[in-house]
Amino acid sequence: MSRQLEGRVAVVTGAASGIGLASTEAMLQAGARVVLVDRDAEALARECARLGPAALPLQIDLLDAAACASLVPRALALAGQIDILHANAGIYVGGDLVDADSSAIDRMLNLNVNVVMKNVHDALPHMIGRGTGDIVVTSSLAAHFPTPWEPVYASSKWAIHCFVQTVRRQVFKHGLRVGSLSPGPVASALLADWPADKLAEAKASGSLIEPADVAEALMFMLTRPRNVTIRDVVMLPSQFDL
Ligand code: NAD
Repeated sequence: MSRQLEGRVAVVTGAASGIGLASTEAMLQAGARVVLVDRDAEALARECARLGPAALPLQIDLLDAAACASLVPRALALAGQIDILHANAGIYVGGDLVDADSSAIDRMLNLNVNVVMKNVHDALPHMIGRGTGDIVVTSSLAAHFPTPWEPVYASSKWAIHCFVQTVRRQVFKHGLRVGSLSPGPVASALLADWPADKLAEAKASGSLIEPADVAEALMFMLTRPRNVTIRDVVMLPSQFDL
């Protein structure tokens, strides 16, 4: 891949695993410096040592409100600028609503919705001040085809989908692009929280894709000419039974 992101700085949340790690790797390969934000200090240290000096670790538990608010100033202190925000960190609670733990629902809504909105909100003054910036949120196929076995998760992604589509139209005039990625099932650690029967079905039907597939879609979005915004990439598995 050519170094199309040379000189740019990306901030990726949930960067120590899965989609965030693949997105980090793709942007590093394209010449960007990347601030990896994650709560998992050990995984961050391991991955940044492997990825080299352009990978800058920033350990933050985004569910800690004060730590979450420190993300943008700390990323700017580390890297000097933010050209790309990949607001990606998210967790999963699925299965029957009646069985769900209400504190787990709170954590998921907080991380998947509130934190994403705050991360985007906090990055805007810097990006608007520079007159350029790309924001990509990891949504989900669930935002488009809500499935009955994950009502709260699908709702969290639906909320974020709406947020992206509205903010995009507010900040376009400042030279910013805002879009989302909506993959179906991706082979990552998150799938450990899926209902076992649904995971078995996804595996049996061959509908799982790899984090690197999602990172390719991200790179497609980032490398379009600046007058083109890809507002959402929906990655629908051909075999998916909707
Ligand atoms: P993952 O579990 O592999 O990675 C998530 C990362 O987020 C981990 O490194 C974890 O440590 C970090 N994280 C979790 N809570 C955090 C917190 N409070 N503060 C900071 N970091 C935190 O999962 P993934 O599949 O790569 O998921 C990434 C995003 O993709 C999520 O928003 C998820 O909803 C979305 N998504 C995943 C799938 C899938 O099937 N895996 C499909 C569609 C969308």
